[in-house]
Amino acid sequence: MIAENVKALLAEIPQGVELVAAAKGRSASEVLEAIQAGVRIIGDNYLQEAEAHIAAIGTRAKWHFIGTIQQNKIKTIAVLFDTVETIDSVEIARALDRQCSYLGKVMPVLIEVNSGREPQKSGVSPEDVELLLGQISSLRNIKVQGLMTMGPRFGEPADSRPYFVSTRKLYEQISKWKIPNIAMKYLSMGMTNTYRIAIEEGANIVRIGTKIFGE
Ligand SMILES: *Cc1c(COP(=O)(O)O)cnc(C)c1O
Repeated sequence: MIAENVKALLAEIPQGVELVAAAKGRSASEVLEAIQAGVRIIGDNYLQEAEAHIAAIGTRAKWHFIGTIQQNKIKTIAVLFDTVETIDSVEIARALDRQCSYLGKVMPVLIEVNSGREPQKSGVSPEDVELLLGQISSLRNIKVQGLMTMGPRFGEPADSRPYFVSTRKLYEQISKWKIPNIAMKYLSMGMTNTYRIAIEEGANIVRIGTKIFGE
């Protein structure tokens, strides 16, 4: 099933859009099956799971961290991952930069935007993104490559569209500012229920779990 799901998605997703297989709660063998069917990037939320996945699979995939970042886990995140999609504060950015400098590594990162401005949700409020970028653009061991958003969860996929549109507008605005060391190359938005809408609205990374691995 996993292989068929991946092949169907890869056939559907337009060129230039990267598929991240969101692997929370999945075994290494399920993740490997997705990779063998053509997935090139795995997104992990939890470090214990990521360690198990990476131990079994290693460099056969690229590893994106897509979970909430806790300060005391940043060292491990720096070691394990190729990209961190969920930067949402200057403290987290500085701590990741420091750990990456110890490793002699430059980490591509995305800024997670709380596009729904939901109080309890992770992500930076859209109006605070500019300030954050100004504060972190001088860091040498992380490089901002774009934005990521979840958006509020709705019953109807179409209800997500305004949040994808506003995040894409922010992404375009930031590109025009030409802040040193800040690139707007990736826009990560859309999951199983919403990836088609996200792609219509400019996503070039979609993070899909359920549609690949099942419920
Ligand atoms: C779980 C998860 C996804 C994928 O969600 P599905 O609805 O299963 O496709 C995408 N992004 C993040 C950050 C997630 O935690």
